Amino acid sequence: MPVLRVALDLPLHRLFDYVAPEASNADVGYRVRVPFARGERIGVIVEVSGMSDWPLEQLKAAGEILRDLPPLPNDFFSLCEFASTYYQAPLGEVVLQALPAGLKRVAATSRRKGRAEPKQAAAPVPDLTAEQRAVLDMIDIRSGFAAHLLHGVTGSGKTEVYLRLIEQVLAAGRQVLLLVPEINLTPQLESRVRARFPAAGVVSLHSELAEAARERNWRAAFAGEVSIVLGTRLAIFTPMPHLGLIVVDEEHDPSFKQQDGMRYSARDVAVFRARQLGIPILLGSATPSLESWANAQGRRYTLLSLRERANPAAMLPAVDLLDTRKMVLKEGVSEPLIAAIKERLARGEQSLVFLNRRGYAPVLTCTACGWVSRCKRCAANLVLHLAERRLRCHHCGFENRVPKACPTCGNQDIHPFGRGTQRVEVWLQEQFPEARILRVDRDSVKSRKQWEAVLERIHGGEADILVGTQMLAKGHDFPRLTLVGVLGADAALFAADWRAPERMFAQLMQVAGRAGRAELKGEVLIQTEYPDHPLYSALVAHDYPGFAAALLKEREQAGFPPYAFQAMLRAEAPAMADAIAFLTTACALPVVQEHPNVALYDPVPMKLSRLASLERGQLLAESASRPALQAFLPRWREAIEGIKAPSKLRWHLEVDPLEF
Ligand code: ADP
Ligand code: ZN
Ligand code: ZN
Repeated sequence: MPVLRVALDLPLHRLFDYVAPEASNADVGYRVRVPFARGERIGVIVEVSGMSDWPLEQLKAAGEILRDLPPLPNDFFSLCEFASTYYQAPLGEVVLQALPAGLKRVAATSRRKGRAEPKQAAAPVPDLTAEQRAVLDMIDIRSGFAAHLLHGVTGSGKTEVYLRLIEQVLAAGRQVLLLVPEINLTPQLESRVRARFPAAGVVSLHSELAEAARERNWRAAFAGEVSIVLGTRLAIFTPMPHLGLIVVDEEHDPSFKQQDGMRYSARDVAVFRARQLGIPILLGSATPSLESWANAQGRRYTLLSLRERANPAAMLPAVDLLDTRKMVLKEGVSEPLIAAIKERLARGEQSLVFLNRRGYAPVLTCTACGWVSRCKRCAANLVLHLAERRLRCHHCGFENRVPKACPTCGNQDIHPFGRGTQRVEVWLQEQFPEARILRVDRDSVKSRKQWEAVLERIHGGEADILVGTQMLAKGHDFPRLTLVGVLGADAALFAADWRAPERMFAQLMQVAGRAGRAELKGEVLIQTEYPDHPLYSALVAHDYPGFAAALLKEREQAGFPPYAFQAMLRAEAPAMADAIAFLTTACALPVVQEHPNVALYDPVPMKLSRLASLERGQLLAESASRPALQAFLPRWREAIEGIKAPSKLRWHLEVDPLEF
């Protein structure tokens, strides 16, 4: 009697067996309705076998096998198996998360044929620069698996390199997967791709798409009806029968890492997928992740460089440091920066003031009794949003009205402490009443529509001064932008998170890259109390390789990634003692003794130790050898599953954690 081994979306590391008298091997990869608990579920058939670990008479019968789609192919399953093994995630969860919601629903949904988005006229193609040509000559799309790291300064024309490669791959009759960090922030890229390949069929796949559209696009990609998929991290699992090239743009971007559910890195899964399919992959960035940079230095990836801007008239901006120890600051802004903004206003050019902190002030305080606005549910402050007159927690979303007086002592004299984008905006408006100021952060721009409207206003010259967070740092051309002022960057130098400098450097490099994209020369002024810090010297010199080399040396000496491999066990519970006790038990499991090549640190509270009323602890496992860590993790996870924990305790394992 044939037995179906079915993947179900459950947090259990096993498949589920059902009998199906009519089934055959040809049914592997189809979806199937199966009874589960008291209801019905949709699963995916992973295997058809003659036997089961369970007595056959105890197995339930499978329901209808759904053959509306072709069966999911082998390479899809090997990709899911890799992700499942590597990230310690149940195979069922991996397989099912890769499918659009409509295909997992028990109630039948209406089916539509895949369809590409509206077609446009082809855009003019620029002649390649010598550097672009040299880079393209290094990549042979027919040579099988090869990982290339394209390091190109901002404005060097990385996108043109992608487009030319895509063109070659399409000509060979293959499909292309182009991954981008956040589709919202890249409408320009999307329209460039569509305009260049009007006949190819381009679909996007990201979480902001309506469900029906996402399913339609996914089906079109799977059916091979469209040639280009432009997607965010979730798109990496899309089955594409003719995939011939993967491009990961802004490969350093933290949003390629999924931070909940299955915690995976889409960039790393992409490299695996390319290797498995024997196709090239191109990772592009002006500030590559140190992991990729180390891979390029170690010749596992080919390093390709674009050192100059593609438009010869567009020079890299001059970066200068403003030593604020020697300056009088008004609302955190120095005289020279004010003067520079004034000059731009007089010349009709745009300025951007970058501050990576939204809200009016990070906290409200009472000077009489020392009260500070804290979130009741998190170990964090409530941020003052004066524009909306709210106090808000940026971690759990809790919010409150702004009190008129101190809730503890009744003192009416309560003050905002520190500053965010709203406060800078208000102050600049007072300084420059005639200037049109546009604030760009997650509070003022919430949807893609709003973002497109903002971009239009900036391009249309309707803003003189932009005040914004890292939202403004990503790949946009603002031709009239000639000044970038940076506030509050020093915070990253001494952050508890040792990856903070790497992230800050990338952000500053990106935001600096917004200036001087056209004929007007750009200037970047960074306010700092540490002008001698190597991070800033590297920025002034536009020296990413130097900065990366210095950081990698530090990491090597300290035994940090990419020279060590890590996994984080996290536990959360109403009481911290329970979370820590659980982690302590996990530390003392016999399996830990059997893997001397893996070191476990002491369990500690997380930096954000309480989130939404749950106390959180973590335990770091580390090894100098990835295989050693990978051998340890499944055995450890199984043993952890056996720990008797309080019922409200939740835990998860994260491999290659990015945040601490
Ligand atoms: P990056 O992604 O590296 O920051 P882009 O691909 O956005 O750079 O290119 C920066 C600018 O240079 C864009 O305006 C683009 O149209 C232009 N550009 C790119 N390649 C060329 C080229 N070969 N000749 C002229 N302009 C180019
Ligand atoms: Zn008080
Ligand atoms: Zn909170």
